[in-house]
Amino acid sequence: MWKVGMSEEVGKALQAVVDRVNQAAARRSKTLPVVPPRLVAVSKTKPPDMVIEAYRKGHRNFGENYVNELVDKASNPQILESCPEIEWHFIGHLQKNNVNKLLGVPNLFMVETVDSVKLADKVNSSWLRLRTASTQTLKIMVQINTSGEESKHGLPPDETVTTVKHILSKCSALHFSGLMTIGRYGYDLADGPNPDFQALLSRRQEVCASLQLPLEDVELSMGMSTDFEHAIEVGSTNVRVGSTIFGNRDYPNTPTPSPEKKSKVPTEEAAKKMERLTVTEQ
Ligand SMILES: *Cc1c(COP(=O)(O)O)cnc(C)c1O
Repeated sequence: MWKVGMSEEVGKALQAVVDRVNQAAARRSKTLPVVPPRLVAVSKTKPPDMVIEAYRKGHRNFGENYVNELVDKASNPQILESCPEIEWHFIGHLQKNNVNKLLGVPNLFMVETVDSVKLADKVNSSWLRLRTASTQTLKIMVQINTSGEESKHGLPPDETVTTVKHILSKCSALHFSGLMTIGRYGYDLADGPNPDFQALLSRRQEVCASLQLPLEDVELSMGMSTDFEHAIEVGSTNVRVGSTIFGNRDYPNTPTPSPEKKSKVPTEEAAKKMERLTVTEQ
């Protein structure tokens, strides 16, 4: 359960992030395509009331990283009634056996995590069968594993062009919208521009040059709570921000680390473990 007054806090935190997004966009280099950044409010582990409150403040784009949680939230009767124009982004790892379930989500706006030709084909064929208006394509992004960490999902960077080419030529039900990356956790910006974001920028350059696409038609989804301003400054068009809007996520039954051991940035493994725990608790 959430505290009384939590909803107001969501509104304030959201407005503060929106302001920071706009300020960061104003600092962008003039050489970058002028694409206003989209803020995706990542509501994972948070109750429907918080989503509704952010929607009432005018927010429309929300993100979830587990198929079951997205299905539950997007089909929640209160959300369906209060948020008719909500736009859901799927930002988690997608397995082929979950594709049909995901594509049935009401108000699904974009799948950001297509990371193989096989998965693209599966999403394409499912959408051909499931979509209601026959002309409507599904927006997807291709997730790239820019950091090369084995624990991270995503396409190996050198397969980007061939995969995008496949989607453009063979997946008629899909609209290729851009490239997405998570990148390594805890990168220190004091060491310079985040190399994972730079890697995504160069893959876009390559895709646009090889396939003759305008740069402004290929979005970049990169940047989370700790680094969304930097991401926007270097060209992100889609930032995924959770805890700075909705507060830290609670992970039931995970022991609270002792203060001296508590690090601000959890390791990838610890974070994943906690997320998994949370989901099985629900
Ligand atoms: C959870 C999540 C986010 C948001 O993380 P915060 O650090 O809470 O902003 C962004 N992207 C993905 C893929 C996520 O799973």
